Amino acid sequence: MSSAEDSDSASPLNLPGRRPAAPSSASASRTAAKTQARSNEILSMVRDGLKRAEDVSKAAAHAIEADAVSALVGDLAALRVDDAAAKQPITRVQTPPPVVDAKKAPLATPAPKQRSSTAVEVGSKVKVGLVYDERMEAHEMVGHFECPARHRVVVNEIKADGLAARCVPLRSREATDAELLRAHDAAHVAAVQTAFDPQGEPVQVATVDDDTGNDIFYTKDTSFGARMAAGCVTEACEAVLRGDVQRAFAVVRPPGHHALCARAMGFCFFNNAVVAARAALEREDVQRVMILDWDVHHGNGIQDLTLEDESIMYVSLHRYGDGFYPGTGAGEEVGKNGTNINVGWLEKGLGDADYLAAFDIVIEPIARSFAPDLIIIAAGFDAADGDPLGGMMLSPTGYEHMTRRLCDIGSGRVVIALEGGYALRPLATCASASLRALLGDAPRAISSRSRPRKTSVKLLTDLAASFAPYWPALKSEEYSEKVRAILKHTTVVASRRVDAYPTGRRSSSMSSSATAV
Ligand SMILES: [Zn+2]
Repeated sequence: MSSAEDSDSASPLNLPGRRPAAPSSASASRTAAKTQARSNEILSMVRDGLKRAEDVSKAAAHAIEADAVSALVGDLAALRVDDAAAKQPITRVQTPPPVVDAKKAPLATPAPKQRSSTAVEVGSKVKVGLVYDERMEAHEMVGHFECPARHRVVVNEIKADGLAARCVPLRSREATDAELLRAHDAAHVAAVQTAFDPQGEPVQVATVDDDTGNDIFYTKDTSFGARMAAGCVTEACEAVLRGDVQRAFAVVRPPGHHALCARAMGFCFFNNAVVAARAALEREDVQRVMILDWDVHHGNGIQDLTLEDESIMYVSLHRYGDGFYPGTGAGEEVGKNGTNINVGWLEKGLGDADYLAAFDIVIEPIARSFAPDLIIIAAGFDAADGDPLGGMMLSPTGYEHMTRRLCDIGSGRVVIALEGGYALRPLATCASASLRALLGDAPRAISSRSRPRKTSVKLLTDLAASFAPYWPALKSEEYSEKVRAILKHTTVVASRRVDAYPTGRRSSSMSSSATAV
């Protein structure tokens, strides 16, 4: 350090650009001395203040249970994404402020790894690949539910949570024609490519057959984005199967699970999960792929494409009945040799306990018997609490547990691919929670007061009974004992309590379902 620097640092209030004037007289010297004394006094007060703040902080840290801190962190995390600010890059206190325009930032590979200062420093036990690409944000119709911010908020959230830095970047790419043709007919692949009329409007609505009135729209970027979504999920699966990584997370849009062999629908153009599953099955070492779809809507496209294909097991948890979109997904549709499993919920407002009961009673016993070589999660987050379309109440913790459980099935090779999810805050927090579980972090505890509804357990045990002829695990004594234990801890949603639900969460079918137990 130079003497000049020494001199500067000796003055406690020596601010940049404000050098003290040299004293020119005794009076000036006295003034300077007074200023120095006052400066030292202020510095001393600041130091005392800092010391007191540190003491208070230490005392608080001892007084507050770790769980409470964790809950507080969770609450704060839930406040990070503001729907109204969706169009803006999201700034977080945990990360350095962005210095680049998010619209221009190259996102083909994750940004330089930068850990959040408050991120939980947990060494990743599992090598997880991550793929995203901001070019998928170009497909846009202003005001549409399926908006570019869905991709952006998830990418921002997993970076802010320090998770992106713990992943291995995977290359983004478009699906090839050959890959798309394993799920779609040639006319459809060509139609998506040519649907946009370059001489027409910038946004061209193709269908108007759902509640939004603009089910499918095309822009000049739609075909590329749809190919990227399918290609990125396929690449993520291939990275896992090659052994580059053990699991992977693909942030993609537009979604895919409604897309049929020859038709785009429900915001979907190509069936990302099925394109990826079929590519995986091209490998000699892959015999069976399971697609677990927890999007609140039934993946009619996935079911349609795989119903007669017993090398792909399709499991969907979705709302069914009361005209809920797309209207498919009945429990009786069991597919070839019981490889199509529809957990079609008849009620709104279900939460973590109901979904985990589905894992206990139906999904895990069957999936373990199926022993998939790869699991693709068609991960819509529109069953999350707060989604404007879903009406369900899953929490980020619920998604952590579901992810963890799927990682424990078969080979443990799991790929999460984004599907729906239209409330940006729940979408971001739940997607991040899922990636955290994928990385091997232990899921947070679910409240012991959280119990499945009796109606849910009845639906699940009925469903399990219909699959028992295909899957003997559903007839074992051990299984029966487990179900009996779950039945002892159910809850009944009485009509009085239903009335207490806030507007918008009340299910028209709750009362009738409750009496059907
Ligand atoms: Zn959905």
